Amino acid sequence: MLGLMQDRPLLISSLIEHAVRYHPDVEIVSRTCEGPLINTNWRELAKRVARLAHALRRLGIKPGDRVASLAWNTHRHVELYFAVSGIGAVLNTVNPRLFPEQIDYIVNHAENRILFFDITFAGLVAGLRPKLATVEHVVALTDTGHLPREVEGAVAYEDLLAREPDAIDWPVFDERQASALCYTSGTTGNPKGVLYSHRSTLLHSFMVCTADGFRLSSADSVLLVVPLFHVNAWGIPYAAAMCGAKLVLPGPKLDGRSLFELAVEEVCTFSLGVPTVWLGFFKHIDDTPGLDVSKLKLERVVIGGSAAPRAIIERFRRDHGVFVLHAWGMSETSPVATIGNLLPAHRDLPEDDQIDIQAKQGRPVYGIDIKITGEDGSELPRDGSVSGDLKVRGPWVASGYFRGEGGNVLDAEGWFATGDVARIDAEGYVQLTDRSKDVIKSGGEWISSIDLENAAVGHPAVQEAAVIGLPHPKWQERPLLIVVRKPGAEASREELLDFLSERVAKWWLPDDVAFVDELPHTATGKLLKTKLREQFRSYTLPA
Ligand code: ADP
Repeated sequence: MLGLMQDRPLLISSLIEHAVRYHPDVEIVSRTCEGPLINTNWRELAKRVARLAHALRRLGIKPGDRVASLAWNTHRHVELYFAVSGIGAVLNTVNPRLFPEQIDYIVNHAENRILFFDITFAGLVAGLRPKLATVEHVVALTDTGHLPREVEGAVAYEDLLAREPDAIDWPVFDERQASALCYTSGTTGNPKGVLYSHRSTLLHSFMVCTADGFRLSSADSVLLVVPLFHVNAWGIPYAAAMCGAKLVLPGPKLDGRSLFELAVEEVCTFSLGVPTVWLGFFKHIDDTPGLDVSKLKLERVVIGGSAAPRAIIERFRRDHGVFVLHAWGMSETSPVATIGNLLPAHRDLPEDDQIDIQAKQGRPVYGIDIKITGEDGSELPRDGSVSGDLKVRGPWVASGYFRGEGGNVLDAEGWFATGDVARIDAEGYVQLTDRSKDVIKSGGEWISSIDLENAAVGHPAVQEAAVIGLPHPKWQERPLLIVVRKPGAEASREELLDFLSERVAKWWLPDDVAFVDELPHTATGKLLKTKLREQFRSYTLPA
């Protein structure tokens, strides 16, 4: 129709063009695998992105081709984000913490043509190289001086860039083209690829910058702890280019001390990470007497990937004045789907009640719709007490997996079944109670393993807790609590059960407590319950 708005496609290249035009001097600070801290900005980054785009084309990369990265959070990895997608190719960020067989599977399944890797992964890449049939070039994200010799034929990234011009006219194409590819960790079966588009990525970025989203803005200095190989670092590199936030990239150093120091030095106001990194962060504070925590300027911290323990939310708030935004999502939702901002109605609530709301997984941001359904597929009430299968739909939710793996995953109305079990309350807050495969069924009722785990980690002696269901002659299944105690801390079975009995319904109380030195985790830090169930297969609960 004449006079309608311009039909400009939502392309990732427009983000870097915007960044260089409107916030060129905003800093990007990056630790590198070679050691030194790099201080750059969006202007300089954009030049290197242009050089890389030319280099990719010179190596024969065409629109739609896949290019892999095996790398930490550094400026070079961010450059790959913009250059690969910018020319219409697809960046497949591979999680280096996966087993080598899984990495081999992913790189071959995606048919990646180039593999960019950080020098810390040289040994891994040398071992995998003969198996990577489609990979034509291996590029070490470093300079000639640090080029690892063990990877045959590897070239240095900085050499590739040096020969190329630092400006480019980005191609214009359909915004529905693929931009990035991320594989789910695949706790059961082979990993499956989730393919993001330019459109889904830009819509997700707008959401990240909204006031009821992550409120990301030009006022922020972002400590990006969540890895660039984990679901696009929750969309932050794109959103930071959009709003002109400063990016602070910790490289390979994710220990509590390094993160604390970087946050202080770079005056970070915002950060994001899974619960485990924050445990390390607080451990550093606890183990360092005399540490001046007043220098910490963090205002908001996003926690997701696993349930944010109430104790972390509380500690951030009481000791550091930091508001924790508890978020839920998955690879298939780009990943952010619900965010735990408070509403005006909560403003005058006592602090404890506010923290209770923050401990839920948040409410849907615009663009995302959610519902819960029962076993027959019918929708269940949003009353905060009934739990059911959580379903989601929206323009940044996957419609299927790469190469049609797993078949058609949407129902007739376009809902994606998340595999999570949740409650939704009247205000729209989601509260995850389980993964559907981890649900404990006792006497026909569901017991939430996540609620029990959250309650258990509230005990001062508990470092980490997991709850699994074990077969029971009368009740079908009963919960077993498995606990890792803090170093030097004591807590008996009876003490823990007493503690829980004040916090959960009587029939939810675990039948037994087992103590272990550590719990098994997936490559993204989630509890690996399949392994735990195997480990405790022949465990008998007390009669
Ligand atoms: P994968 O699905 O490959 O394990 P994802 O990072 O996509 O990796 O994980 C998504 C899953 O992580 C969700 O379906 C949910 O079970 C869990 N999860 C994510 N965020 C939270 C959260 N805030 N609280 C509890 N569980 C979460």
